[in-house]
Order: sequence, then C-alpha cells, then structure tokens
Amino acid sequence: MKITKQFEFSMGHVLHNYAGKCHQLHGHNYQLGVTVESSQLDSSGFVMDFSDLKAIVTPLINAELDHHFWVYGKDPRARALIELGARAVAFEPTAENIVSYFERVISKELPDGVTLAQIELYETSTSKAVLR
Ligand SMILES: [Zn+2]
Repeated sequence: MKITKQFEFSMGHVLHNYAGKCHQLHGHNYQLGVTVESSQLDSSGFVMDFSDLKAIVTPLINAELDHHFWVYGKDPRARALIELGARAVAFEPTAENIVSYFERVISKELPDGVTLAQIELYETSTSKAVLR
C-alpha cells in the first residue's frame, strides 16, 4: 500500500552552464509529492500517519527551501549571491537534483518498514521531475 502527501514551497534558483531561462536569477512555486509504501499496515491501519510524514518533510522545506535561494557552489555568481543570503549547494539546483536531495534526506527519517516509493516535483504546472 502507498500513501502520498503533497507539499508546496516557493524558492529561487539559478542554473550555471545553461543557456535557457533558468540561467537568470528567478524562482518557482514548487509542488512536491512524497509517496511512501509499506507491505504491512501499522496497528492503526496506516502505512504511516500523514501527520508523521508532514512532520518529517515540512521542517525540511521550511529550514532549507521555502523562500530560500539556491545556487550551485561552483557557479561564479555564488559568492555574491551567498553574501545576499543565498544557500550554496553541491549540485545544480535543477528539479531533478532537488528531488534527489529530498530522497536522500527523507529516506533516512522514515519509520522501520516504510520506504520511499516516489518523489515528484513540479517546477511549473507543466514540468516535473519524478524519482521512483
Ligand atoms: Zn528555474
């Protein structure tokens, strides 16, 4: 059985070595879907309580992403942006890499017997990255 919880946040980013629009400083209203699964339901009849999943993901979003600005640490603009409050990360902040970041952090926090089944991140209403 699987359950999915949706989250949303606004974040700025800039991509390095890229000729498209995301080369410019800008932001997106991201929609995140986190799906977890378990072969057995717990004693309450849940894969996992939705509120427990929220308690893992929301603090991460609030501390690291929502209303933050991410820049790749190797981007030549990083130093100036960090002085303005941007967060330097060890990867290009593409939707794909942000999904991988969520996967690494969330999977460590799940209860025993519950695994991450899918993470999907909409960067716009028509563009998303999915990790299964
Ligand atoms: Zn962008």
